[in-house]
Amino acid sequence: MKILFVMFLITVFLILLPQKIGDSNIKTNLEEKIEKRIFEIIEDLDNYKIIKQEEQPVDTPKPTVTPTTEWWKYPKEILTTKRSGDDLLVLVNKTYKLPSTYAPSDLVKASNSGIRRGENYYLRNILINDLKNLINDSKQSGADLSIVSGYRSYKTQVDTYNYWLSKNNNDVEYVDTFSARPGHSQHQLGTAIDFSSNEIGDVLGDTFANTKASEWLKTNAYKYGFIISFPKGFESITGYKHESWHYRYIGVENALSLTNKGLILETYLVSLNP
Ligand SMILES: [Zn+2]
Repeated sequence: MKILFVMFLITVFLILLPQKIGDSNIKTNLEEKIEKRIFEIIEDLDNYKIIKQEEQPVDTPKPTVTPTTEWWKYPKEILTTKRSGDDLLVLVNKTYKLPSTYAPSDLVKASNSGIRRGENYYLRNILINDLKNLINDSKQSGADLSIVSGYRSYKTQVDTYNYWLSKNNNDVEYVDTFSARPGHSQHQLGTAIDFSSNEIGDVLGDTFANTKASEWLKTNAYKYGFIISFPKGFESITGYKHESWHYRYIGVENALSLTNKGLILETYLVSLNP
């Protein structure tokens, strides 16, 4: 009996032994996995922190626009534009001027947009499709649009500015309220358009503000990527008197973003050109 009992104990031991070894193996594997996982999480968190720290700008001042009472004046220091002229978001104003050598590479005739008048002005090809849609939709709403100025080369700007000086007894301060000095005009970009309408006999100027075409543009132009450059009441920021006819193309996405943020073109471009 004793021998039988000892054999029984040995048999039970032999049966249970592999299971115990197996259990401890599983346990070890699990512990390793858990430990490994915890280690990985810690590692991930560390990496996350490092990435976050790198993303945070250190002591970068927010871009601001300082309004000035003598808003028509140029600053003492004139700078060259930070972005290429081909960049739809390049800031061109009284502080930043385009290089005299800059000309857009994709100029085409405005006639490609189907405009009724002003078809011989040049504009960048990049805006033609949106302009075509703008013209068609304005027509459908009963508003007539024409173009009275588009791309102006650096050389043309020299002539234009000098023309206005000669017309106004070389009154530089007065001319600076409405005419850009060479290199400072958005028209050199090929994305600025001066609009008019048959309502005022296709002339350029203040009378455009009272037209149905102007009203339509004010409400709808941004949907096609166009933004008024020199709005009423913002002279101290833009440096130019109100021009109801002058629009600049910055692309539909940007025009929507600007409108949603309630910004004007100048402050929007300044915020993107730190
Ligand atoms: Zn203009």
